[in-house]
Amino acid sequence: MAKIEMKTALVDMNGDEMTRVLWSQIRRELIEPFVALKTEDFDLGMEARDASDDEVTREAARRTLELGVAVKCATITPNADRVREFGLKKMWPSPNATIRAMLDGTVFRAPILMRGIEPLIPRWTRPITIARHAYGDVYKAVEARAAAGSRAELVIVAEDGSEIRQEIHSFAGSGGIAQAMHNTDASIDAFAHSCFRYALETGQDLWFATKDTISKTYDHHFKDRFAEIYENEYAGRFADAGIEYFYTLIDDAVARIVRSSGGMIWACKNYDGDVMSDMVATVYGSLSMMSSVLVSPRGAWEYEAAHGTVTRHYRRWQAGEDVSTNPIASIFAWSGALRKRGELDSLPALVGFADALEAAVRETVESGEMTGDLAAVTSLPGARTLSSTAFIAAIKERLARRFA
Ligand code: NAP
Ligand code: MG
Repeated sequence: MAKIEMKTALVDMNGDEMTRVLWSQIRRELIEPFVALKTEDFDLGMEARDASDDEVTREAARRTLELGVAVKCATITPNADRVREFGLKKMWPSPNATIRAMLDGTVFRAPILMRGIEPLIPRWTRPITIARHAYGDVYKAVEARAAAGSRAELVIVAEDGSEIRQEIHSFAGSGGIAQAMHNTDASIDAFAHSCFRYALETGQDLWFATKDTISKTYDHHFKDRFAEIYENEYAGRFADAGIEYFYTLIDDAVARIVRSSGGMIWACKNYDGDVMSDMVATVYGSLSMMSSVLVSPRGAWEYEAAHGTVTRHYRRWQAGEDVSTNPIASIFAWSGALRKRGELDSLPALVGFADALEAAVRETVESGEMTGDLAAVTSLPGARTLSSTAFIAAIKERLARRFA
């Protein structure tokens, strides 16, 4: 069988622990037998990041901006325990945060739906994609305790030294707390562009919501930036594509989302996205079925699984156990990256392979062969729990049949 050819390479970022084990199996068993794979490989495993003073992460992000497409394995974000475990030179930052900052991107998370894995809200028959703004607000806030009798003020000093000064609160009777947060036009605009473009690319409606009735300057500014960018640059293309941009208040959005059948992209401010993405992931079943793509307004796409390195399973795997970790989100990271590469390079065969790979995964699960996390929740009768290795082999068999 002739392998499917690629034109441009994609960036392959390897990672850690159980997902690193799955990563090489996916590449070897599900991709390389079918595709003449062209990749530029970066090892973002904990040891390699430490050895390179994290330069390997930044280099991978730079190459992603140049080549346009990357696929990333889950990686350890070191904490104090990890510094000890690996004897790290320092507590390196989260690779995802480093890459996101360099790509100036927005993360879109969507559940992978399969027959037999029913969402807790039955009417959610189509995926809800959450786009979380990943800069500022409460995540970059300054805050302080205020003693009784103190006064908190918000002061903005202009370049020429002039001031805008507003009282936040006078803590006359009892003390309390105060907080100041910010965002930037550049970041809000990049977020808006990523969302409008991704809606066009995927043919889905875009919803956005804030609390602009209460936050008349801060949240209202988000609403205004989105509205202006939409009117100036996207309204015509949305009409042509038959999709809609819909703005509403955040509490109204939450109520409407629960009543909906899904199928939209829901753009969320940073905190809303943090909270709502966990809610949406839980309703759809499992973090192991959540795909994730970082979209850069500079024209780069980085695909990954939303879950981490599944340390608990890795410890059992290290002890020789044949574990049943779900590789689906990692496989869909590969199919997503290959499809995007195929689209950018006008290679329909590569796009077709990505579709076939996803179909083979779906067929395997829907025929009752799945990993333990899915077997525990499936509505299919007689489901069988396979190890990760056996599950990947079952997918490969079906994929090979499609290409025979
Ligand atoms: P995790 O790796 O997502 O795993 C948490 C738990 O969720 C697992 O113990 C497992 O539950 C379940 N789970 C997650 N993915 C699964 C899968 N594919 N198949 C089956 N079950 C799955 O989160 P964590 O244990 O909190 O974090 C581990 C490491 O990952 C940390 O070092 C963290 O820094 C890193 N992390 C990386 C990323 C990223 O690179 N994007 C994201 C999050 C976390 P059971 O044990 O109950 O089976
Ligand atoms: Mg969260």
